[in-house]
Amino acid sequence: MSRRILPSLAAALLLPALLRPAPAAAAEPAKAPVPPLHGGVVTATDGHAFETLVAQDGLHVWLYTDESAPAMVGRAGGSATLKLPDGGARELTLAVKAPVKDAPGTYFGPMHAEVVQTTPGTCEPCGGMVLFQQDELFGAADLQGVDLAKVAAQVRLAGLKGQPKEATFSPAFPRPDGKAATAGKGR
Ligand SMILES: [Zn+2]
Repeated sequence: MSRRILPSLAAALLLPALLRPAPAAAAEPAKAPVPPLHGGVVTATDGHAFETLVAQDGLHVWLYTDESAPAMVGRAGGSATLKLPDGGARELTLAVKAPVKDAPGTYFGPMHAEVVQTTPGTCEPCGGMVLFQQDELFGAADLQGVDLAKVAAQVRLAGLKGQPKEATFSPAFPRPDGKAATAGKGR
């Protein structure tokens, strides 16, 4: 007896689910903001994207995912060679520089690329997850008096999240006017 009831019971339980109308199509997802977010120059490499800025205090590098969403530096580090307009060169070590807590910066939802803002907050799509504050790789160099628009850089990074773990690139800083290269000085 019970063997006969079970299938119909199962059908009774399943049918409402099958008949339930499909949820309305989700609204078009918001587009992620396109970097650069810090006034630097974006370089896409295989699997990664970076924003590089030469400023009077040195070289700044921010990380993005291959989908150009802000990302944390994690365990990455590296070095850079700056070629100066006077023919000289500077060798820099790039290390993680934590942002000033709660200061204006780039706050993002790691799981929702469209959630990016300049002040602390929470990710609504996540139900209130506290936003990450984007950090950076930084190499100090005193570049006071140097024409930043004429500085060239080669950046070598290792320990990146994802694949590949390493990246080497030379940002295409605009020249000769160099507007983008100097616009974000001092962040
Ligand atoms: Zn989220």
